[in-house]
Amino acid sequence: MCSIERRVQLQQCFRCSSYDHKRECEGPDRTKLCQRCGGENRRAKQCHNRRRCLLCNKDDHSSGSGRCGNFRAALMKERSEREATGF
Ligand SMILES: [Zn+2]
Ligand SMILES: [Zn+2]
Ligand SMILES: [Zn+2]
Repeated sequence: MCSIERRVQLQQCFRCSSYDHKRECEGPDRTKLCQRCGGENRRAKQCHNRRRCLLCNKDDHSSGSGRCGNFRAALMKERSEREATGF
């Protein structure tokens, strides 16, 4: 493990899993959906289904991975805000 950069913790919307907002959600209710495949098997601890991003509707990555455009955009935004405040 090499962590030169401090990890930026992104908060997801509890309801739709979006990174755009945390409250006042106008997105779909995804609280019962699997974070990996988007299926209704959230209870399953280990999902072996094919990854599917809830945010991009693409099936080559899961939401929250570095391959997710939505995730990366939110990360960049978070970082730039932190740099601006000198944190
Ligand atoms: Zn939301
Ligand atoms: Zn799943
Ligand atoms: Zn994605």
